[in-house]
Amino acid sequence: MIDEIKKLNHKIAISDRDKLWIQTEYPNITISSSKLSGEICFQRTYNNITLLDSCNIEILLSHNKQSILPKVKCLDNKIEKIAKSLNLKMDQLHTNADGSFCLTVYPKEKSFFTNEQFNIQEFFTNLLEPYLYWICYYEKYKKAPWGEYSHGSLGIFEFIAEEDLNFRKIYRILKTNNISLRKVLSLYRQSKCLCGEKKSKTESKIRKCHNKAWIGIVKIKIALNQRLSILPQKNQTTISKV
Ligand SMILES: [Zn+2]
Repeated sequence: MIDEIKKLNHKIAISDRDKLWIQTEYPNITISSSKLSGEICFQRTYNNITLLDSCNIEILLSHNKQSILPKVKCLDNKIEKIAKSLNLKMDQLHTNADGSFCLTVYPKEKSFFTNEQFNIQEFFTNLLEPYLYWICYYEKYKKAPWGEYSHGSLGIFEFIAEEDLNFRKIYRILKTNNISLRKVLSLYRQSKCLCGEKKSKTESKIRKCHNKAWIGIVKIKIALNQRLSILPQKNQTTISKV
């Protein structure tokens, strides 16, 4: 990924109203101009299971070009401990290599906010708390409470599998995530999965290993074919070179 995209160079402003809300909802969180840090206590219910837990976190009040979300990290080794006790890798608990939380896939970020506009209150209630609930549930019940997207391009393909998108939208999503259409078109039924997990020959095929991602890939191919079929014949050669 290009460094320019990864740079956290867009500031997230916290209004006085937001500050008041944070102080009321999460009294142990300290607010500064560059970050929010401290203990977040939460109580959430999903499918009639209520969990009450807390986590020491740090939220950097800036985001990069690709994402509208701030980076959040755990300030102690709580998640590491959970991963160890469950014999899971950190990325299986949706923690990135730099220790930040992987809260959702890029194309879905805006859908968590009213009018697709980032705001700190909905960030806490729609993304951060559900993420922490997910982790705590996993710790307690040794399984994920709900399905999740895979990491990297597989997660993007899974997202595309779920949504009803035209080719133009799909193309934009692939482009923002640095996935070339050529790469997608090179994947076929017998291709090995991109996750690289060691499995038997049949099980390691993408359509078996990450089936939903495969469905997404098929969807992209169908959308491209539909797009090509509505174009005048003479333009087809140039378009297929994309
Ligand atoms: Zn796989």
